[in-house]
Amino acid sequence: MIYFDHNATTPLHPAARAAWLAASETFIGNPSSPHRIGARADAALNGARAKLAAILDCDALDMVWTSGATEANNLVLHHAAQTNERDAEAWASAIEHPSLLAPARYHFGARLRLMPVTREGVLDLNWLNDELKKRRPALVALMAANNETGVLQPWRETLALCRERGVAFFCDATQWIGKLPAQGLGACDFVSGSAHKFGGPKGVGFLKCPARGPVEPLLRGGSQEEGRRAGTENVPGVLAMLAALESREAATDLATLESNEAAVSVAALETRRDEFARQLCGALPGVEIVGAGVPRLWNTVMALMPEADCQQRWVVKLDKAGIAVSTGSACASGKEAPSHVLSAMGYSPAEAARALRFSSGPETTALEWVSLFTALEKIAGTLSAR
Ligand code: PMP
Repeated sequence: MIYFDHNATTPLHPAARAAWLAASETFIGNPSSPHRIGARADAALNGARAKLAAILDCDALDMVWTSGATEANNLVLHHAAQTNERDAEAWASAIEHPSLLAPARYHFGARLRLMPVTREGVLDLNWLNDELKKRRPALVALMAANNETGVLQPWRETLALCRERGVAFFCDATQWIGKLPAQGLGACDFVSGSAHKFGGPKGVGFLKCPARGPVEPLLRGGSQEEGRRAGTENVPGVLAMLAALESREAATDLATLESNEAAVSVAALETRRDEFARQLCGALPGVEIVGAGVPRLWNTVMALMPEADCQQRWVVKLDKAGIAVSTGSACASGKEAPSHVLSAMGYSPAEAARALRFSSGPETTALEWVSLFTALEKIAGTLSAR
């Protein structure tokens, strides 16, 4: 199978696998245990904390290990609701992941304001600038890169606006981390990330939160993580996550990423993505690339396909041809409701129903992009012939 669904999840990086196996054998103790075997596990965890904090550029104590980004996102919204006035508002971009929007709605109800995005899927900074002059929410949440469209968001500018107004800023960086350098993200008050999006194991992630000042925990019943998240820590998972991220970061630092071929630069990966998009638009009239005019993740192409058939049939036909793709976010796939991301961008339900998402990884070859294009062209022929 050729895998074009890296935004849903990624294969385990060899460095992560090695780190996981080594940690499972070496650090058998519970990090909270009072003996040396426990202390060794605790030291390994703290070493990883310091290294991850250095990558994000924040304090080691800012890091809380979680089961993934869904938990981290829930923790932030829970914390914000518990620690602010009852009439406080939370503002989140309309294109946030459901794991952020659902707890935001649960905790804030009508006091959740959705921040609008442009037709290209970028947060409307003018709107935010104007609104922040009028009101002061408890929290502003903006993701770093969108999981469906790959469109990069102005998180640095939003952070600066929030700083000016003394508003807490939360960045879900799940799709950014491991694809683009994470340096600087640590300046945000809260940052969520997830290992399985960048070659780490599933079921482990982190939240960066302010070390000073208590965080209202979601999970209670233990003093782990300074009381911010109870439960025995997943030591092998954390060390494997760090190994995967260090490999990806080392590659992105040099503006190169690993691949089966010779090392390729991020610019070369973007060229590969754009060449595929150009070929697709040229071969199939009616195709539209979502967010084509704005900076996007080097790995993501969301295309509105010609109206020949519904998006699920494209996915099934590509699957039969040996290629795994998605209709959008993994969580939105297969259900009837149109993507809330495309709706927020002003696309109609009929247009949203034509969306396919192709998301590559650092190991995806130029030849695999060509195979994807060839398969799409062939399937389009069979669909229009029907
Ligand atoms: N946020 C974003 C932007 C995501 O893409 C995802 C995963 N699709 C999540 C949060 C949830 O991450 P996890 O699978 O670690 O719970």
